[in-house]
Amino acid sequence: MKKYNIGIDLGGTKVLCALVEITTKKVLFMVKKKTKKEKGNEKVFSKLIEAIDELLEISKVNKDEISSIGIAVAGQVNRKEGILINACNLQCKNLDLKKQIEDKYNIKTYIANDVEAATIAELLMGAAKDYKNVLCVFVGTGIGSCLVVDGKIYHGATGSAGELGHVIVDLNGRSCNCGAVGCLEAYASRSAIESRIQGAVKKGRNSIITELTDTQNISTKHIKKSLDAHDEVVSQYVNEAIEYLSGGLASAINFFNPELIVLGGGLIQGINDIYLKTIRLTKNKALSVASNKTEFKKAELEDFSGIIGASLIEEYRLCLK
Ligand SMILES: [Zn+2]
Repeated sequence: MKKYNIGIDLGGTKVLCALVEITTKKVLFMVKKKTKKEKGNEKVFSKLIEAIDELLEISKVNKDEISSIGIAVAGQVNRKEGILINACNLQCKNLDLKKQIEDKYNIKTYIANDVEAATIAELLMGAAKDYKNVLCVFVGTGIGSCLVVDGKIYHGATGSAGELGHVIVDLNGRSCNCGAVGCLEAYASRSAIESRIQGAVKKGRNSIITELTDTQNISTKHIKKSLDAHDEVVSQYVNEAIEYLSGGLASAINFFNPELIVLGGGLIQGINDIYLKTIRLTKNKALSVASNKTEFKKAELEDFSGIIGASLIEEYRLCLK
């Protein structure tokens, strides 16, 4: 009898590997390994195996009781073949995860992009449960997003649909990590706010944030503390980011007319004022015919969205059949 799934969140600094009970979707055991120094296909794969082996050992679960292994990874994936096509922060290319893991453990293996896995988690058991047309947007270091159309994640022709972070908002604007110019991510992510604050401090403007941290290591907590202290510099650049984010979301509403927008990611989860203001401004900017029925919710599975989402890939794929 299959009682469990393994959910794996493979990121640039760590791999989380969890045993999840199928009926309750509870995380029963979890193993965490650092991936900061282990880069490249071979090293990343052996870290992954180390994590799975350790999980099997500490949980004392029999392999026959495990229905599937799901892997969420920050990068481009070939879902059908189960290949990690490219993950910059792991320096992995064309890593045949599905085949190699299935050969080793004889357990069905699925892979998904991390934003897609977080969306699966929200769709099956979080904020987007019972909704059919949804946009999930996660605002943190970057901006990740995913479209759900008629209850299914929409991948587009080559699997890259839903990249709201790379919608261009300024033709002559800032450079983006993707190589283009003027992408929303370069204006509305936490990194964008950080670099604006860094620039202002460099030019000699005073900000309380310099008392909280050196400006190379600004976190959401530092931003929140500065906002609470009504710091002028931080407020200015947070407000600027919210203007851009709400512009991007309003465009998405006008284009896609979703019934629900799920907002998540560190910046939204960590600072409620940003969440609320983003909603207000988005509604002001969108066409009312498109936005008057659009609901907004916070993502519900934030910290564990990767492992839970990964553990649910099999269930999600079976639902589609
Ligand atoms: Zn971009």
